[in-house]
Amino acid sequence: MKIAILGAGAMGSLFGGVLAEAGAQVTLLDVNQQHLDAIRRDGLRLETDDHARRIFNLAACRPEECREVPELLMIFTKTHQIAGALDSARHLLGAATWVLTLQNGLGNVEAISAFVPRERVLVGVTTIPADFLGPAHVASHGDGAIRMGHADNSAHSAEHPSSDCCMLCQVVALFTRAGLRTSADPNVWAAIWEKAAFNAAFNALCAVTGCTVEQLQLVPGGPVILHDVIAEAIAVAHACGVPADLERTQAMAVRSFKTHAGHQPSMLQDILAGRRTEIDSINGAIVRAAHERGVPVPTTEMLATLVSLIDARQAGAPSSPAAQGRHETLAVSR
Ligand code: NAD
Repeated sequence: MKIAILGAGAMGSLFGGVLAEAGAQVTLLDVNQQHLDAIRRDGLRLETDDHARRIFNLAACRPEECREVPELLMIFTKTHQIAGALDSARHLLGAATWVLTLQNGLGNVEAISAFVPRERVLVGVTTIPADFLGPAHVASHGDGAIRMGHADNSAHSAEHPSSDCCMLCQVVALFTRAGLRTSADPNVWAAIWEKAAFNAAFNALCAVTGCTVEQLQLVPGGPVILHDVIAEAIAVAHACGVPADLERTQAMAVRSFKTHAGHQPSMLQDILAGRRTEIDSINGAIVRAAHERGVPVPTTEMLATLVSLIDARQAGAPSSPAAQGRHETLAVSR
């Protein structure tokens, strides 16, 4: 399969590397010139639990330099970079090109649908971790899995089998061959909301406190906030008609105190590195959906505002998109 990976940082490089090893024809597309040059010169250094190696059968270039229209374009930028990246890759979106997103957060399919019909978008979640260690050098340590499905479930119901359904099957088969634990999941939206609820709690609370996951238990109020945010987010999912499971998500949270004890979630890492966070597509998106449906989400909204303030301060800007949404909400509610 011809695959282009748009956004070849930690996750994009990992997926590109293992898919190329499994025989796919992979092109990594990124704007980090040093990273692209190093991959072309030295191959991609990939470290996983079982071994470290260099992968050479990877093409790497800027999106505008690529001429080969892929069968599958996988987008692995940060969520706020989706529109800019797809805009520079419009010429790669052929009439038969599918797009897959496994990015965190909500609203990614809507952003992608401005460029590709929703019927040709695959969406999912992954718990596989990846770290960008430097140009042409990524690592992935620990276990994880992928669940994916059609963004537009209604277009692919069992009563109307479509030949395009094969794309999901082909992608699952290829990923599995590449050693990625992958399943097609008809309830993929529940998985996406459960991960968003989990991230809204852990990422945002670690981001504002500077705590690692285990340090959130230092005072009894830490786990209370986490559990409140998860309950709020799952209530919003239900209001949106998504059967996300509260007990399963709370259990995931309890487990992560052990499995991710010393971990700094990506939102905290982004703040410490002076990068913009994904708060707008995680807590911000949950808050917007809650307002549309009249679901109270006070704790999620407080965390969204606090992280947006940090983002805005670091950017030196008067306000971020999430904060602007909050201003409009205040104006409406007064
Ligand atoms: P990253 O910052 O390492 O990679 C993003 C890449 O996108 C960078 O290399 C950047 O240069 C590139 N990029 C930015 N703008 C671009 C443009 N216009 N055109 C082309 N490339 C562009 O991020 P990541 O950690 O790989 O995460 C990607 C997504 O996956 C995020 O949504 C994240 O939440 C999600 N995710 C990450 C992990 C993880 O462990 N890293 C796990 C699960 C999900």
